[in-house]
Amino acid sequence: MKKIENISSRRKFLSDTTKAGLVMGLVGTGILASSCAAAKVTTSGGFSTGFSQTPLPYGFSALAPNIDAKTMEIHYTKHAAAYASNLMDAAKEEGVDISKPLENVLASISKYSVKMRNNGGGHYNHELFWNIMSPDGGGKPKGKLLEAITASFGSYESFVTQFENAAKTRFGSGWSWLSVDSSNKLVVSSTPNQDNPLMDVAEIKGTPILGLDVWEHAYYLNYQNRRPDYVSAFWNVVNWDAVSNRFEKAI
Ligand code: MN
Repeated sequence: MKKIENISSRRKFLSDTTKAGLVMGLVGTGILASSCAAAKVTTSGGFSTGFSQTPLPYGFSALAPNIDAKTMEIHYTKHAAAYASNLMDAAKEEGVDISKPLENVLASISKYSVKMRNNGGGHYNHELFWNIMSPDGGGKPKGKLLEAITASFGSYESFVTQFENAAKTRFGSGWSWLSVDSSNKLVVSSTPNQDNPLMDVAEIKGTPILGLDVWEHAYYLNYQNRRPDYVSAFWNVVNWDAVSNRFEKAI
């Protein structure tokens, strides 16, 4: 992991362009990333996450039928919104400077409250999740990312199997992840609740570049108890350009 140009301006740009309705098609193309400027801070994997919820980069129905509109709407406007709101409360209560990246807090989460851990993780995880999916997603990774996946897991198919197993065998609520570890290797892991690999309490640490929400709230309306079907459908909406972008910034 390395120090990079801060991208707080990216957030503003993302927010502004989303308001202008221009963001679709820009996320993951590198156009947003190249708009970076401003102060230097250390971020995780070149991505800096703020404490407020950013606009969903597509409509609620955009990922259907893989993820239905009602699930997306409730997930974004209720569940994820609550994490962001509760995170802001926790930040006030615990004197966290919200002008700094959330990643800084996650890296030393063991020093904060359970409220910060649950909602800081919850907010970060969902901000990542919305942005690694796209209505134009699916297919396979390419280029350097595909090479790294092949080097770490033997093949793309073997990676998919490991990732799906992590998602399917997470008991109760949690996430499965593809992350870049401290030696720039790719690792698959899963975390309980709203934990993630950036946290100092994580069993397997790294910079997440792909994450899948396996809480029942992410799939129950459409898939009920069939988590494996939801996990399979996820591949149809993965935005590999966005994942590649995160990968290249993390190494
Ligand atoms: Mn969720």
